[in-house]
Amino acid sequence: MSVRVAVIGAGAAGLCAVRHLASRPSTFSVQAFEQSPGVGGTWVYTEKTGTDIYGLPIHSSMYKNLKTNLPKEVMAFPDFPFDKQLPSFIKHQDVLQYLEKYATHFNLLQHIKFETQVIKVQPIHCPKEQSPTGQDQKWEVTSAPVLDSKKSVTEEYDAVIVCNGHYAVPLIPKVPGLETFSGEIIHSHTYRAPEDFKNQTVLCLGAAASGQDISIDLSSEAKMVYLCHNKSLIQSPLPPNVQQKPGIQSVSGSTVTLNNGEEISADCLLFCTGYHFRFPFLTESCHLHIEEERLTPLYKHLIHTEFPTLSFIGICKTICPFPQFHVQILLVLAALDGSFQLPSKEEMDADTEADYQKRLSEGLPKRHAHTMGNRQWAYNDEIARLAGCELIQKSVKNLYDAVHETRVKNLVGYKRVNYEMVNECSYSEAC
Ligand code: FAD
Repeated sequence: MSVRVAVIGAGAAGLCAVRHLASRPSTFSVQAFEQSPGVGGTWVYTEKTGTDIYGLPIHSSMYKNLKTNLPKEVMAFPDFPFDKQLPSFIKHQDVLQYLEKYATHFNLLQHIKFETQVIKVQPIHCPKEQSPTGQDQKWEVTSAPVLDSKKSVTEEYDAVIVCNGHYAVPLIPKVPGLETFSGEIIHSHTYRAPEDFKNQTVLCLGAAASGQDISIDLSSEAKMVYLCHNKSLIQSPLPPNVQQKPGIQSVSGSTVTLNNGEEISADCLLFCTGYHFRFPFLTESCHLHIEEERLTPLYKHLIHTEFPTLSFIGICKTICPFPQFHVQILLVLAALDGSFQLPSKEEMDADTEADYQKRLSEGLPKRHAHTMGNRQWAYNDEIARLAGCELIQKSVKNLYDAVHETRVKNLVGYKRVNYEMVNECSYSEAC
């Protein structure tokens, strides 16, 4: 009896799930659902903001000039390298092309229903002895064509893998007086091109990857960019019209008061403050809780502990996404086919709580419950070991660390360096 699996989304995570499920047809059957007409998810750039041709919110957060902030050598899925001819830091179009090639190479398109949105997922009871997963639940998945939502269909699956992405629903923190701001307020999700800000003074809020990148992109056209944040100062030289400032305290009309009391007049407030997790299709009976961007109850940020046949790929942040998706999916499959015996619910919840408490004890706020950074390597190794698959090569970590070092010193120019992964543990760089 094969395990019927529904995959929600055909971005990088969904494609990776389909690739591994479809490669084992005697164990799994797979049906993926993608609301857009093609694969690639957030890498499908559009100039448009707001809603798409179907009236759905625009999903992609790409902007015109975006180049990857990781070199292609560490971005790739372990079983599918990027084109050798490309430089290390590539355009968003190149990543989309890579994902399209991955889909064709592994023959994935036949398993994906495009322009079909999953609108409801709910667990139903199933006696263990009748279930190919050995769990006592299966799933009702309701989907509908985006062109005619009345034609919805409900089907049963033994497992559901959620790959709907988490860079699509902007998170804008509360700022006193924000509603009085006389200029434009946008979020990095809707930032597209620096030309839209010609000669403007822009206050960019947040200095994580997007805030840093967008400030530099904007500096080619804007009169002045204030990069406002509460982290320690970026040490790298910045363009002359990009200045670091403290975070903002309040807004009144066109004046923004910063945390040090300084007042700045701005034409635009650009929030680079991250995104919300959203799973509008999960019914309450799925018992997924989201509190300050912490999802529970997920074992290893991945598998629902009450319903182990429900899993979520790509929840972790500040990672090398594609390699991590690869090992996460292999663990989900190992749990579904029984080759990995999941611990009891109590043990899984205790493991999750221990990870969470460790983060808190290190001073991380709750909203960083899924942030990885340097934690990702031990995590990836653990996931791979549990899955019984190959570990991600050490050279990925080495190169990631080397790029980080270069980036800290040269935020404006680090993407001009080309890297090559020579062997397991070293790299060479050439300008
Ligand atoms: P997505 O790509 O968001 O795909 C989710 C898919 O699910 C979409 O196609 C969506 O249409 C579909 N979907 C959602 N809901 C439903 C539904 N109900 N029914 C059907 N389909 C649905 N990563 C890197 O490795 N290197 C980088 O340089 C890099 N830069 C980035 C820059 C930006 C601005 C952003 C936003 C992200 C960047 N990332 C980068 C991270 C990137 O998000 C991941 O690489 C990866 O593409 C995420 O894939 P995903 O499949 O999880 O999500």
